[in-house]
Amino acid sequence: MTGPFPGGRRFAFTIFDDTDEATVDRVKPVYDLLASLGMRTTKTVWPFAWDGENSCFSAAETLEDPHYLAWVQSLASQGFEIASHCATMETSDRETTLRAHERLRELFGTYPRSYANHAGNRENLYWGADRIDIPWLRRVYARYLGLAPDYYQGHVPGSPLWWGDACAERHDYMRNMTFNTLNALEANPSMPYHDPSRPLVRYWFSATDAENGEEFVDRFASGAAARLEREGGVCILATHIGKGFTKNGQVDARVEKILRDLAGRAGWFVPVSELLDWLLVAKKASVTAEHTIPHDEWRRLQYRWARDLVLRRLISFRRRITARR
Ligand SMILES: [Zn+2]
Repeated sequence: MTGPFPGGRRFAFTIFDDTDEATVDRVKPVYDLLASLGMRTTKTVWPFAWDGENSCFSAAETLEDPHYLAWVQSLASQGFEIASHCATMETSDRETTLRAHERLRELFGTYPRSYANHAGNRENLYWGADRIDIPWLRRVYARYLGLAPDYYQGHVPGSPLWWGDACAERHDYMRNMTFNTLNALEANPSMPYHDPSRPLVRYWFSATDAENGEEFVDRFASGAAARLEREGGVCILATHIGKGFTKNGQVDARVEKILRDLAGRAGWFVPVSELLDWLLVAKKASVTAEHTIPHDEWRRLQYRWARDLVLRRLISFRRRITARR
């Protein structure tokens, strides 16, 4: 039986790796394994080091570290996609954000095609409660975050943190909602989609959320990979490969087993932007030319995102309690 993806592959799997806590030592073993399995994925980078104090991300390396830069360039030359996760690990003003884009273009030949907001960086676009349109859910989430309503300002013209114009011009794809299921198309069949109420982003995509190595292993429990293949699904795994995927220079044995199992299936393993380019063309016939997300789908997406977020928080809380015993 052949599948719907190029070359008759039956499903698609890739990774969008947020660079929090990434160092060459911690993440290279995973990338070596991915490359040896013929998987090409997407790695985000920070062009600039953070020179302020008290960042909880300061263990990460940036492109200012020569050995890290050389390694990231070797990844790019092997066909991995290099993507943006802000200019650095803490908030940057417009000038720094634009300088970061130029630096990436200088190093990799093009502006990064895909992007994901990072943690509490205030230049994030449409972030915090601005992710949500359902009024009561927006209020609850705003309360949970406890931030000023105008905390995130990347999409606010006139703000010193504004860079929405550059986002619209330079990035094709931005991550928004993440879920606990592997198959993103099950939750979000119209992805990549445009959202007219957030016009500075060309196309949004959804992903599977796995904060770290443990959650990565969780996502593949109970035959999830076989199900992804059976469903002809698309999995973009949003994770931090710098968090618990390796120990003493070795890939966690459970992670390795999962990746080898996936590679042995009839999957299509290309970077995120290449996969989304293909999806855009493939679904052209079935949705509106603008690829606008249908209203009902957007509503369901927000509820499901909130439910999955609560579930993940409960499970990680339980895990911390059990670990302490
Ligand atoms: Zn991050």
